[in-house]
Amino acid sequence: MNNMFDLSNKVAIVTGCNTGLGQGMALALANAGADIVGVSREIPSETMALIANTGRKFHSVIADMSKMDSIDHVIKEAMDAFGQLDILVNNAGIIRRNDAIDFSEKDWDDVMDLNVKAVFFMSQAFAKQVIAQGTPGNIINIASMLSYQGGIRVPSYTASKSGVMGVTKLLANEWAKHGINVNAIAPGYMATNNTEALRADEERSSEILGRIPAGRWGTPNDMAGPVVFLASDASCYVNGYTIAVDGGWLAR
Ligand code: NAP
Repeated sequence: MNNMFDLSNKVAIVTGCNTGLGQGMALALANAGADIVGVSREIPSETMALIANTGRKFHSVIADMSKMDSIDHVIKEAMDAFGQLDILVNNAGIIRRNDAIDFSEKDWDDVMDLNVKAVFFMSQAFAKQVIAQGTPGNIINIASMLSYQGGIRVPSYTASKSGVMGVTKLLANEWAKHGINVNAIAPGYMATNNTEALRADEERSSEILGRIPAGRWGTPNDMAGPVVFLASDASCYVNGYTIAVDGGWLAR
């Protein structure tokens, strides 16, 4: 049987590739055979070194994904580097914490612009290129437990990640006919910069840990299997679905 998880000769764009889950997913896709276009705000030295060890190519694009003009820039740079696009992982995301009663317009807009607006328009630009190529494509959006749950003190994050799950379904519906599969991964509580404040708060941290059946925080490596699955032929009849990678959090 052919290896249906093989990503040889594929090109994957990963946004927010310099650290955390984005770094873990870029590495996993490279280990499965893909060349990587890594988008970040600064040179992603650590990710570059990790991917060099896999023998795959890595092209760095410096861009602020919260700005609309970054979208065409990233697609153009990726095409100039590799001449084709196959996989897009919309990973870059931020969180702002404050009580809903005090939450500012800036904290609303900053999070919505990056976490959901950029996801939509990056997907649109990628899909235009893939449709022009006449080849299949795989889009993997990064959702959250707060695509399913309300959360607390993170109103724009909850709105954005609920939006990511909805947009994932809408795009899957419209683009399946073009051979573009759009799915999402909803990470649970993962040990990255995103959750640094939570993990530093002893009370919240032990509450969270006590509720995770797997009994530990997730790691970037926990994203490896799911992202390769959703990027590969192994998931060719999976459309519009959000996979929770949460150590059982949602099952409680
Ligand atoms: P992280 O370590 O903070 O990584 C976020 C990534 O996004 C970083 O590479 C960051 O780059 C990048 N980024 C932020 N703003 C950007 C911008 N304007 N333009 C381009 N890149 C930007 O956190 P993470 O946990 O790996 O988060 C990755 C994704 O998973 C996010 O969408 C997050 O919401 C989601 N997620 C995380 C968890 C969790 O528990 N950790 C749970 C559910 C969902 P810089 O280093 O330059 O800031």
